[in-house]
Amino acid sequence: MRHQRKNNFFSRQHSPGNNASYNKIDFGTYVCPLCGNIISDLTAAIDYGEGHQPAHLDCVLNLLSEQENVPDNQRLIYIGAGQFAIVSFSPEFRIIKRIAYETKEFVPEWRNNIKKIFFQSNKIQ
Ligand SMILES: [Zn+2]
Repeated sequence: MRHQRKNNFFSRQHSPGNNASYNKIDFGTYVCPLCGNIISDLTAAIDYGEGHQPAHLDCVLNLLSEQENVPDNQRLIYIGAGQFAIVSFSPEFRIIKRIAYETKEFVPEWRNNIKKIFFQSNKIQ
């Protein structure tokens, strides 16, 4: 036995959204603890330090390459999800060391706020 779908009743779409408003979303003002400049793209920021503040990805990259003393034939890159890696490209691509800056278990408050704001703005439309 099959139930027939009542299309008109249930097929209300979850707001298709108006992407034009994306740039206007205000996440609050966060200042990068490493360079002191405002972080304009919070969605690309990295959770930094014990205070769990957002920091520019580039600033964390610079700091880490200083700390890790990356040799000339290796490079420090961002591999996503709050993780960095020291890699070498020759004779073949190889990950020398992984550096986890964020863990899946802990979500900093500022990133939770991003989620909340996206959720709310989705509902309003
Ligand atoms: Zn910075």
